[in-house]
Amino acid sequence: MKPQVKHYACMVDLLGRSGRLKEANDLIEKMPLKPNVGIWRTLLSKIRENLKRKGLNKEAGRSWVEIDKEIHIFYNGDDMHPLIGKIHQVLKDMEKRVKEETSYVHSVNFTLHDVEEESKVESLRVHSEKLAIGLVLVRRGLKRERPIKIFKNLRVCGDCYTFIKILSKVLKIVFVVRDANRFHKFENSLCSCGDY
Ligand SMILES: [Zn+2]
Ligand SMILES: [Zn+2]
Repeated sequence: MKPQVKHYACMVDLLGRSGRLKEANDLIEKMPLKPNVGIWRTLLSKIRENLKRKGLNKEAGRSWVEIDKEIHIFYNGDDMHPLIGKIHQVLKDMEKRVKEETSYVHSVNFTLHDVEEESKVESLRVHSEKLAIGLVLVRRGLKRERPIKIFKNLRVCGDCYTFIKILSKVLKIVFVVRDANRFHKFENSLCSCGDY
């Protein structure tokens, strides 16, 4: 019998399940057929199980913001918030203004590589920190009042970082972002961390 991709996938699955990830990866690299998405997914899900067993769960990125004593939490790509339509709209408007006033372009290298350019931009627009900022702008408008304070459990990605920096100048609003690594105060297109 000539092994086909699905047979290799079974082997990868078996090796992965028994924790032999290196062998599973070697098999994929050496197989005479072009590995398909399914095979990589199989290996990945093994890897994930392994991590889980070792208690090393990859934490999902989330940001939160407090408005009127109420905490709103967003995950990347989250569409559960009742104002999500307005949030997307305000973020699109902000993107337009940021682009008009500066040379900002989405840093698509902060996205997955196997997706179309357009969906890369879409996926950046729904990063949790942008959604949280979008909600504040929807709720209080573009008034220059108190700083906008956002919290994130992981590190702010480079695209969001640049976006918030420029937005602080465009809207003349101070943004304070506390992420897993440090504290950023964005004001007039500069950050207190000196772009660390
Ligand atoms: Zn981001
Ligand atoms: Zn900073």
